[in-house]
Amino acid sequence: MALEVQNLKKTYRYHGKPVVAVADVSLSIKSGEILAFLGANGAGKTTTVKMIAGLIFPDSGWVKIAGLNPHHNPKALKKLGTVLEGNRNLYWRLTAEENLIYFGVLKGLSHQAARKFSLQLLKRFGLFSRRSALVQNLSRGMQQKLAIATSLIHQPSLLLLDEPTLGLDVEAVEDVKLLVRQLAEEGLAILLTTHQLNVAEEISDRVAIINNGKISTIKPTRELIKEFSGTSYTIEIEGVLDPDRIKSLKDLGAIIIENRLIQIKSSDQLYQAFEILNPLFITRLETDQVDLTDIFFKFLKE
Ligand code: ATP
Repeated sequence: MALEVQNLKKTYRYHGKPVVAVADVSLSIKSGEILAFLGANGAGKTTTVKMIAGLIFPDSGWVKIAGLNPHHNPKALKKLGTVLEGNRNLYWRLTAEENLIYFGVLKGLSHQAARKFSLQLLKRFGLFSRRSALVQNLSRGMQQKLAIATSLIHQPSLLLLDEPTLGLDVEAVEDVKLLVRQLAEEGLAILLTTHQLNVAEEISDRVAIINNGKISTIKPTRELIKEFSGTSYTIEIEGVLDPDRIKSLKDLGAIIIENRLIQIKSSDQLYQAFEILNPLFITRLETDQVDLTDIFFKFLKE
């Protein structure tokens, strides 16, 4: 496993009173997998991520990164890459390449190895032609890609990735999403924290929702969406239905609204409805599938 987290707990003291930030969190991520870690403000995400990164000690429970416990063995941190504050992790007055080399050496690489990996990453991330540009002169999307590249200079097996698409324009969002997906496909394990639920839905393999310091669900993304989605369909036709078709559709069990919207309960009925409707012009076909945002708010209310 790239990451194992077992029964993590953390209580802060605030003005002498205990504040339970993380009540009980267990999760794991295997190589090549993206786990979206979602929760409302104050749910305990940051505290969990800080414990995984070895920045704060848990009261109890443990973390293993590629089998190593970051609280007991500093070598665990060699397996870990972090992008927690995006472009704020970079030196704005250094060039793209200088940033990569600097952080590579900081992570224990020789200057030669840092240079070699930095050139590989610049090419891999489509930043090679801008390698000599100062970070402050790069676009926001390029800065974000560079922040991710920098976190990977020492070739970690786990990436903690916070809000990778926040504040980016539409094109850069697509670029970063694709890149993150590709990194996972190449074997990187990624813990993605974000409030951009559409991004989480698109790129994650699994979702974990944290509520009041506890994991309330952890499941494959598609499975979760399927579980919460209904199986009904709405068909809209151009114009209005004739009485014969209305009768046939009602016999099938369909509900007809305003003589032009047809609600169907199952996919079997859907094909029969198509036969009845043929050759009328269909303007819309919709399933009552929910998205991750709907599911997230359902869990939040519970
Ligand atoms: P956000 O999405 O806003 O970053 P979060 O899910 O990351 O929220 P945490 O930052 O982990 O949540 O905070 C969990 C709880 O612990 C909150 O109630 C917060 O106020 C409290 N907390 C966090 N850090 C401290 C601290 N250093 N001292 C006292 N309480 C803290």
